[in-house]
Amino acid sequence: MFFKSHPRHPRSKFLDTKFFMRIYFDNASTTPLLPEVIEAMTEVMHNIFGNPSSIHADGRKARMAVEDARKTVAKVLGASIGEVFFTSCGTESNNMALKNSVRDLGVRRIISAKTEHHCVVHTLAAIQKYGDVDVEFVRLDKYGNADQHHLRELLENGGEKKTLLSLMHANNETGTMLDLQKVSAICAESGALFHTDTVQTIGYFPINLSELKVAFLSGSAHKFHGPKGCGFIYINGDNIISPFIDGGSQERNMRAGTENVAGIVGLAKALEIAHRDQEARRQKMMQTRQYFKEKLLQNFEGIEFNGDENGLCHYKILSASFPTSPKADLLLLNLDIAGISASGGSACSSGVDVGSHVLTALGADPDRVTVRFSFSHFNTLQEAEEVISQLKRILQN
Ligand code: PLP
Repeated sequence: MFFKSHPRHPRSKFLDTKFFMRIYFDNASTTPLLPEVIEAMTEVMHNIFGNPSSIHADGRKARMAVEDARKTVAKVLGASIGEVFFTSCGTESNNMALKNSVRDLGVRRIISAKTEHHCVVHTLAAIQKYGDVDVEFVRLDKYGNADQHHLRELLENGGEKKTLLSLMHANNETGTMLDLQKVSAICAESGALFHTDTVQTIGYFPINLSELKVAFLSGSAHKFHGPKGCGFIYINGDNIISPFIDGGSQERNMRAGTENVAGIVGLAKALEIAHRDQEARRQKMMQTRQYFKEKLLQNFEGIEFNGDENGLCHYKILSASFPTSPKADLLLLNLDIAGISASGGSACSSGVDVGSHVLTALGADPDRVTVRFSFSHFNTLQEAEEVISQLKRILQN
């Protein structure tokens, strides 16, 4: 059977028949580049090679490409141009928000959740180790929703210590989402700063920073069909921080290093298109997800879902939990052999079976087998049907 999961280059040396037929249900790990993004980046690589810091015409051309990209990102986010900084990835943006708020803004207490991405959880551990900072975690329900009463209590009981709240918009493993509007307002009432990791939601949900009280917000191009190795951070204009990486005066002195011009242009192009096509993509992905979920429920007894299916949940992610069985134990491997890419937990640790800190924090049954299926607008109902039939073959025969 032939599936066109997403556009691939017809002359690629990686394009053996088997690869071409694969079904990609791992879009929370990363997404394929859009052809328009490749085109925009290729144009930069061919014709805009100057260093944006050079003052001659070639440099100015590169500078213009970077600043146009910044304008696009700022417009999509409802931010000022001066509040958007390009970084190398979502991980760097999250490190920057957390470490710089301690170093430069006097934060001495951070409230977060145990289900945050490793680049937040491990950064918090490093901050605790090297600095005089208290880290506290908000209570979560079994789906990963923050307990609002506990959150208020934590925010109100900080004493004199300057506090930062860091909570992600959507969990990358379960899809459970935070009500950004509500939580940013609660946070603002307490006078604490708010950082949100929107790596899984930028380009998928309308986020208007002119209406939200957010100090820092992180994003990453490769989650919305842009290139890997390029991210951004929004830093609200009230928060003046020193460079995260010291060196030249790039990114208005916030982050030294010659800019990844092609990556930045690709990020902006991908975000512009994601913003433009947001509703159409959402409809398509919701349809695929719903169809797939119904088929799972019809065909697999005892199946459960880890995300908050009756509350706020990302339409891109479906975290399915299968009852344990000898056949289920090798499910991911067998799906891979059948030409289906999915993940067993966090994207960043997939392929290494170290268990999921998210599912552990939620008290999930360690004997059940979780597969995270995550969709893009390139996926089809036909593909969903094929994955179901492969799951039946693997688990029921
Ligand atoms: N935050 C979340 C929620 C993620 O899902 C990821 C990647 O999986 C990251 C941060 C890290 O982003 P990057 O891969 O750009 O470093």
